[in-house]
Amino acid sequence: MGRRQTLMERYKIQMKAYRKKKMKVDNTPFLPEDGVVYIMDSLNPEKPMRAVVLKTRTKQHRKIIESIACPVCGNAMEWDSKWEGFICEKHGKRAIYEIVKQK
Ligand SMILES: [Zn+2]
Repeated sequence: MGRRQTLMERYKIQMKAYRKKKMKVDNTPFLPEDGVVYIMDSLNPEKPMRAVVLKTRTKQHRKIIESIACPVCGNAMEWDSKWEGFICEKHGKRAIYEIVKQK
């Protein structure tokens, strides 16, 4: 019984460390050369919208998008690496906006 708990505890600690490591990976999207970014509501992916980029940050000589205006309420949304999107919770239900990858 005691040993079983120990293994379980160890597993939990490992999972915690793994998640922490995973969250550290910065997957913030880059700003394209032309600065044109399209986003889509993850619940309505057929309708891409032109995004209003509010804030960028330079990383490794490239610009990454730090903040985008919510297309519905204008709230400044920040990148959430866990959801891999920009999240707005200011207008009703939580909305997740993903960056539309340009070809
Ligand atoms: Zn909003």
